Amino acid sequence: MLENYQKYLDFLDEKLKKFFDSQRPYIQCHKGCSKCCRMAQFPTSRIEMIYLLNGFLNSTDEKTQDIVSQNIQNILKVRDVAENKKEFRYNCPFLIDDACSAYQYRGIICRTFGLMKQEEDGKITVPFCCFEGMNYSSVIDADTHKLSPEKVKTRECLEEPLGFNVSYKYLTDKEFEETFKFQFGEKKPLIEWFIKDSLKK
Ligand code: SF4
Ligand code: SF4
Repeated sequence: MLENYQKYLDFLDEKLKKFFDSQRPYIQCHKGCSKCCRMAQFPTSRIEMIYLLNGFLNSTDEKTQDIVSQNIQNILKVRDVAENKKEFRYNCPFLIDDACSAYQYRGIICRTFGLMKQEEDGKITVPFCCFEGMNYSSVIDADTHKLSPEKVKTRECLEEPLGFNVSYKYLTDKEFEETFKFQFGEKKPLIEWFIKDSLKK
């Protein structure tokens, strides 16, 4: 099953590389920027979690694993007393010193961080950092949150930016399970997979 999931990831990474390459003029992601790994829920399916954990445990040293384990315990403690667990947000436990300690094995949603997206209903959404002067900020109107024709005009030598269909819902659709022959399984916020016995069920 993990081999087939790996084939799907290879296919996905190739597609995403093309998308990122085409959006290069609008993207400012760089090493050390970890804002998209903070204060979010990080939806993760069972197979993503198994793949991530296997990869992480086989590729990191004891010290790194201890840090992540401590991060997980700390987050779960805060979650335990949170009033609204459904909306609970946290910094990803795999984030260490502004870098992903499981980068090669990260989840699907992490692979799309930074791209402008076209949602199921056709609505275009930009990454939150657009409004902090980062991705797509050179062409998006901060008030309307839409593409600004004036701003695009000032960059007339460039192609207009595009929103791709890379929503988590779409990328974990059963169409891909059927094509690549694996199951995503249950989906939930990443941290909930660390609640006792979650992966055993
Ligand atoms: S797994 Fe890595 S890339 Fe994904 S949210 Fe966590 S630290 Fe960020
Ligand atoms: S998407 Fe935005 S916040 Fe995330 S790494 Fe790129 S520039 Fe930073």
